[in-house]
Amino acid sequence: RQRSSAGEVVFENVSFAYREDDPILTDLSFRITPGEHVALVGPTGSGKTTVIRLLCRLYEPQRGRILLDGIDIRELAIPTLRQRLGVVLQDTFLFSGNVADNLRLDAPITTEDLERLCAELGLVELLRRLPDGLATELRERGGNLSSGERQLLSVARVAIRDPSVLVMDEATAFMDPATEATLQRDLDRLLQQRTAIVIAHRLATVEAADRILVLKRGRLIEQGSHGEL
Ligand code: ATP
Repeated sequence: RQRSSAGEVVFENVSFAYREDDPILTDLSFRITPGEHVALVGPTGSGKTTVIRLLCRLYEPQRGRILLDGIDIRELAIPTLRQRLGVVLQDTFLFSGNVADNLRLDAPITTEDLERLCAELGLVELLRRLPDGLATELRERGGNLSSGERQLLSVARVAIRDPSVLVMDEATAFMDPATEATLQRDLDRLLQQRTAIVIAHRLATVEAADRILVLKRGRLIEQGSHGEL
């Protein structure tokens, strides 16, 4: 499978504050090579979510640069950035509309292809549970789905776009074992041959990562594999 982008992510001396005189990230530098899986860990408030927000360009660093495949993300068109960077957050944004539209977003994809992809992702069970399958209308924010089901849809939404970099805030919510197993299998597949940066909450994820970045008060204090740390 050919992608237009290899998936290298570089933070170069990035400093960021939401408010003046309240530094959240300080001189943060790291390089994630194409295909590498990195777990981001650190105490609450250490800046993990902020790293992800900057990478997605929700905020801009006051100092330093963030590069995707050698290009400053400020120079990338937003649709290009969205195509290359797949984001799975804990609280997925689902809008009122049907399941198919929620999966597609603005990607031009036929219902037939969508059905095939859902089958590949093991979503058949979920779709069968819903009254009208892909045509099921979701309530505001997917209120008529369980949190596990919302996560499954958010992974499917990202898988459909085939991004070169996966950015994820791993779920902590309780899921029934069957949903969790499907989710884990989909995630494992999604991680293959892709760069990933994951805010890891599960020990298994930390252990499986190629490298762990440890943040403390917005600084990178340690990095290495699970065996090394
Ligand atoms: P957690 O593990 O609890 O999710 P985290 O490591 O992801 O924490 P961040 O969410 O990045 O940490 O938060 C880092 C710091 O930035 C915290 O002190 C937080 O209060 C602050 N912060 C986060 N978002 C904002 C915001 N929108 N405006 C101002 N301060 C913020």
